[in-house]
Amino acid sequence: MKILILGGTGEAVELAEALTARRHRVTTSLAGRTSQPHVPKGKLHVGNFGGIEGLTKFLRDGRFDYLIDATHPFAAQMSAHAVEAAAAAGMPLLRLERAPWTEPARGAWRHARDEVEAARHLPASATVFLTIGRQHLKPFIARTDCRFLLRSIEAPEKPLPENFVLQPGRPPFTLPNELSLLRHFAISHLVAKNSGGSQTAAKLEAAHLLKVHVVMIDRPVLAPAPTAAGVDAVLETIDHAPASARRFRFFP
Ligand code: NAP
Repeated sequence: MKILILGGTGEAVELAEALTARRHRVTTSLAGRTSQPHVPKGKLHVGNFGGIEGLTKFLRDGRFDYLIDATHPFAAQMSAHAVEAAAAAGMPLLRLERAPWTEPARGAWRHARDEVEAARHLPASATVFLTIGRQHLKPFIARTDCRFLLRSIEAPEKPLPENFVLQPGRPPFTLPNELSLLRHFAISHLVAKNSGGSQTAAKLEAAHLLKVHVVMIDRPVLAPAPTAAGVDAVLETIDHAPASARRFRFFP
């Protein structure tokens, strides 16, 4: 089959490799936010589509058979566009949705709807480990009464204020790494997005062990779509895709 994967996650890279090995023709699309992304097997499309219409056209023009949404759990707009565009192009869609992290017993996370609410949860003089990427920093930049250790794959476009320290880093992160970081910077609060998965989970264990307060930004509610919980579940579905999704491509 000819498959378009909406990527930007480790699972998307794994999927591209597994589907290519199964002799599917795979294209992965990346938003283009990272200048040196992990390059998946198969073809690559870098950059946005231009909304639902753009993605629909891309699916039709490319004569794809299947759309897999393997974007980050917080990429709600892309996931919504995938639902609309797959329907408009008349093709099956499957979303890879990894399980969210769950709060440990006596974990006492403070939950936040978004970055604005998360920033409000921080007390004055907090020393904060910020692991939300480099977008949506504004509410934290407004908190001149706190200090921030910002971990991001790449530096934000604008210079950071003096109460910010940038810690470049690309997952996966280990528990010893996270423990030493939290200790070294005497972190009092961790702000995280509930991305789920194993690659960035060690910070939660480290926070729990060191009694660092956790402010967790909950996942956005995504447009309903058929979902699979991981790479193996996606492969299982694709392996059993009905013949209608396996159109022959010998004739135009
Ligand atoms: P978004 O708000 O859902 O997407 C905004 C627009 O970016 C989409 O409408 C689309 O533009 C384009 N886009 C997003 N993913 C794309 C992909 N895989 N291929 C082509 N175009 C894509 O998502 P976001 O702005 O990327 O991020 C939202 C949140 O997710 C942020 O909080 C971010 O930290 C987190 N996140 C995202 C990624 C990622 O790779 N996208 C990775 C890690 C974390 P058009 O409408 O013009 O097609």
